[in-house]
Amino acid sequence: MAHRLQALDYSVLQQCMHCGLCLPTCPTYDATKLERNSPRGRIALMRAIADGQMEATRVFADEMYFCLGCLACMTACPAGVNYAELFENARAEAEESGVLRRPARDLLRAATLRWLFTDLRRLQMAARAIRLWQETGAQALLRRSGLLALAPKRWRELEAMTPEIRAQFSAELIAPVTPAAGLKKARVALLTGCAQDAMFSDVNLDTAEVLARNGCEVITPPEQNCCGSLHAHNGDLETARTLARRNIDQFPPEQYDAIITNAGGCGSHLKHYARLLSDDSAYRARAELWDTRVKDVHEWLAGGGWEAPVARPGPTRTVAYHESCHLRHGQKIFAAPRQILKAIPNVTLAELPESDWCCGSAGIYNLLQPEMAGQLLERKLDRIAATGASIVATANPGCLAWMATGLRRRGMAIRLAHPITLLAEAYRGS
Ligand code: SF4
Ligand code: SF4
Repeated sequence: MAHRLQALDYSVLQQCMHCGLCLPTCPTYDATKLERNSPRGRIALMRAIADGQMEATRVFADEMYFCLGCLACMTACPAGVNYAELFENARAEAEESGVLRRPARDLLRAATLRWLFTDLRRLQMAARAIRLWQETGAQALLRRSGLLALAPKRWRELEAMTPEIRAQFSAELIAPVTPAAGLKKARVALLTGCAQDAMFSDVNLDTAEVLARNGCEVITPPEQNCCGSLHAHNGDLETARTLARRNIDQFPPEQYDAIITNAGGCGSHLKHYARLLSDDSAYRARAELWDTRVKDVHEWLAGGGWEAPVARPGPTRTVAYHESCHLRHGQKIFAAPRQILKAIPNVTLAELPESDWCCGSAGIYNLLQPEMAGQLLERKLDRIAATGASIVATANPGCLAWMATGLRRRGMAIRLAHPITLLAEAYRGS
């Protein structure tokens, strides 16, 4: 079988000069101090496979899944190593080698990656079931009953992670066309996401309102697709490619000034469809145009001029900003969300120490690697507590849901909010 890492442009692998400057920024290396748990060590393993010196083994596959994919190493790297591309191909190599195959795992991957997350209607069906469980009070009753104490630890952990499903999905909240308030400056498409749609449809509504307030006509088709980041980061590049083609067909990039995302993790993946479809002659050119059109909402607002909210009397709130890894390290966006937060009346922005250190959510890392993810969450909550903030702002659904789990467990009365929600509230005067 052809190796994915052997097929990869060798210059990407060769770029690492083993300087080690990325090591202090790597959360897994920080935890273990083992070279193989570092970016440099992982790249060496990948290169050994590409050079034909090593086969993909179970140890290799486990190492690739111990990596968070947080991309902090990319920000630190002076040689410009494209770790994002290496990471995706290494996980695909791990999957395609078959070393991780087990019937239960194969079934779970088929049910989630290829069935649930390839059709928004199926995902909404699952979300409705969870919503029913929550709205009827069954979840609260179970949590109060003490019965969970009898369940295995892993079950209790998974139950605690059940995301809160919003009462309505994005399509029930946002019109397919939201006209610009005042002079129309741009026509944009709004991506409402898959998990984002189920857990944070209110953030999508806030995003549509904020964009319209800043001169955008916002097109929000009711039926959308997953961006495919979940698939690309978990070794299923073929499904990621299928979803990329579907998104390009649904949102023809020629028709929009921008294609807007408010989820850091999705945005980082959405901006690289050209890389994903580089060998697809039918889509390559459109994917290249697509990449130039995709904008994170903070980036778009900061780049196009936006209206600061009017100051009103009210209590001062201290907000700490946690940076989603893929917004900070994947998309290199760090100033724009802070600018927006600082412009919100009655908000004091408290600098969060290690604001760009992963919280452990990392896609589905918290499901696959609960121990490491839990350590990172505790570390993040300690840093948050030290700021004295009453609100933590962050721009990624995974971080929001994961930190909500931790705050609940610790009994910390801190609100979590997307920066755009705080901006939308300021515009509304609430
Ligand atoms: S992506 Fe994150 S966890 Fe993985 S090697 Fe880079 S810094 Fe370490
Ligand atoms: S900083 Fe870059 S070049 Fe240096 S070891 Fe890490 S990945 Fe390699």
